Amino acid sequence: MSTIAFIGLGNMGGGMAANLVKAGHTVRGFDVVEEACERAADNGVEIIASAEEAAQGADIVITSLPNGGLVKQVLEPIIAAEDTAPIFVDVSTIAVSEARELADAVSAVGSRFLDAPVSGGMAGAANGTLAFMVGGEKEDFDKVKPVLEAMGKSVTHCGQTGNGQAVKACNNMILAIQQIALSEALVLGERLGLDHQAFYDVVSNATGNSWSLTVNAPVPDIVPGSPGDNDFKPGFAAALMLKDLKLAMAAAEETKTDTVLGKIATQQYTKLVDEGHGGLDFGAIINDVRAT
Ligand code: NAD
Repeated sequence: MSTIAFIGLGNMGGGMAANLVKAGHTVRGFDVVEEACERAADNGVEIIASAEEAAQGADIVITSLPNGGLVKQVLEPIIAAEDTAPIFVDVSTIAVSEARELADAVSAVGSRFLDAPVSGGMAGAANGTLAFMVGGEKEDFDKVKPVLEAMGKSVTHCGQTGNGQAVKACNNMILAIQQIALSEALVLGERLGLDHQAFYDVVSNATGNSWSLTVNAPVPDIVPGSPGDNDFKPGFAAALMLKDLKLAMAAAEETKTDTVLGKIATQQYTKLVDEGHGGLDFGAIINDVRAT
């Protein structure tokens, strides 16, 4: 069992840290928000006064923070400390380029860095059923894999550092486009007099099928518990989808990739968030389609 410093005990980190404790690891946690620390302490996390102190003597430092700037800010003094931790794992969603910069800074002091963003949301974090997509050296991945398995149901090595973030950006760009495509088709069907159940019965068994329809249906009464059945309670909030789309668009610009539909999806989600709906599930995009 390892001693793990866990920095960022929010919606995702809180659940993940609790599952590490359940698996028998010693977890030394830190968050700037008092309530997050209290919740984690209730789950057996030892709360430490600062991120630097939590990291002292840890086998692994895990960060779960809102953005790459904060990950950099939190890790800089830890990386610079004498006898810093041998392995750093960032489970936040950040830019591919930021992950690669962090990996360089960590390897410059002789330690290792893995980017390991997740999919599966708060429920996945709480239930230990997240999907981890991991970038970095294979031997480092093999060392850390059992720790990630305590927090997730699938743990995939995706190649060099930054590749975890790369595949996450690609996946979420597909998802955003798909959710908009489904919304347009549903609204078109409504206007043609098609009822939702008939739409579902055919499309879910046909070539237009998608996770957006069978799990994340944005209309009521066809998929129990889906956002459409639940006033668009997230799920995956539109503001987080927009964050991920912006990271994908930054990567597209850096690599000179013309992601036409990705750009349109980013505009649509920017509009939804600007209208004040960032806290709704991203499936709420159907309301904007219907409003046109
Ligand atoms: P969150 O805001 O709930 O948690 C982040 C935590 O970091 C907060 O508790 C905050 O207080 C803490 N924090 C901020 N600055 C800090 C600092 N300097 N030192 C220590 N703690 C600090 O966010 P979340 O939903 O848990 O998301 C975390 C990461 O996971 C993000 O990068 C997000 O994009 C990604 N993610 C989220 C979801 C989701 O459904 N929520 C899904 C997949 C990926």
